[in-house]
Amino acid sequence: MNAIMVPFLDLHAINERFREEIDAAVKRVLDSGWYLQSRENEAFCAEFAAYCGVRRVLGVANGLDALDIIIRGYGFGPGDEIIVPANTYIATLLAITRNGCVPVLVEPAIETYNIDPGLIEAAITPKTRAILVVHLYGQPVDMTPIRAIAGRRGLKIIEDAAQAHGARHKGERVGSLGDAAAFSFYPGKNLGALGDAGGIATNDEELYDRMRAIANYGARVKYEHAEKGVNSRLDELQAAVLGVKLRHLDDDNRKRGAIAKAYLESIRNDDIVLPATHPDADHVWHLFVVRAKNRDALLRHLEANGVQAQCHYPAPPHKQKAYSEWNSMQLPITERIHREVASLPISPVMTPGQVLRVIGAVNAYSS
Ligand SMILES: *Cc1c(COP(=O)(O)O)cnc(C)c1O
Repeated sequence: MNAIMVPFLDLHAINERFREEIDAAVKRVLDSGWYLQSRENEAFCAEFAAYCGVRRVLGVANGLDALDIIIRGYGFGPGDEIIVPANTYIATLLAITRNGCVPVLVEPAIETYNIDPGLIEAAITPKTRAILVVHLYGQPVDMTPIRAIAGRRGLKIIEDAAQAHGARHKGERVGSLGDAAAFSFYPGKNLGALGDAGGIATNDEELYDRMRAIANYGARVKYEHAEKGVNSRLDELQAAVLGVKLRHLDDDNRKRGAIAKAYLESIRNDDIVLPATHPDADHVWHLFVVRAKNRDALLRHLEANGVQAQCHYPAPPHKQKAYSEWNSMQLPITERIHREVASLPISPVMTPGQVLRVIGAVNAYSS
């Protein structure tokens, strides 16, 4: 066994850089004696809303809940169809099916891995309510044609921005590109907490008000439950830590961008296809995803050379056992992506030597 020299993601090192600030934030919460729905939550939500360029952010327990509560907030339910890319993390689909809605799976563009806007119109039926876009791997979706379609057909746009904190489309931040946006602050995301956390961004005050009640046991006023809500909160400790990390997000995203630039300039290998960025997208490189015909051989080669790569994701949702009703569906581009993708290490704590090691190892690969 070769000891791993370039780990895929060193979360300890990522948070250790802000040790003093995080310690102070944790102390502040302990000293306050308030653990839920108090100052830290309010402060972080206001800061993150300003950062995204929206009026409101609602803190919730995780990214799946964020998606789920948006769909519930709109009142979408059984019979309603939601258009969604077929190649996404399963959470996007679980939020749809949890509400009894029907996901209508659309293929991505193979170059960017994001939903192909040219295929959306054909997927719309009289039952379609929303287009749920996923800014996959940190790259904003090509929103211009999607906004035009949604406007023409009277559909809501929901963003799954769980992998794209801080990314911009034509200068506008994700979170502000549609009607409502879900964020995850899972520890490994570009803006990550020290546990589970999530948020919803929107300019829609009415929706915000409904979602806040849903997330709070269906109550607007304490002990008055107008509907069957859920308990989904961003706690004070996570909010305080996220406040610290938000201040470093742009800097961290710039570091990711510099590594991506080095990979794009220096990886030269006919067996490897590099990711493409849409001209309107300012990518934040949550993941750097290449394609290789023989992906598993590439992963083995990298591991033998001290580089820990991963695969996001080995199988698309429609081929998972959880969605056995769709297993016979054929989505060739999605399935090809899942067969061929490998994620190279990328993070704000990688050293220049580690970046060179990854480049050398990838360039030395032959299938
Ligand atoms: C991480 C992620 C989620 C879910 O977030 P959790 O906080 O883990 O619930 C949803 N969608 C995408 C695309 C993700 O990457």
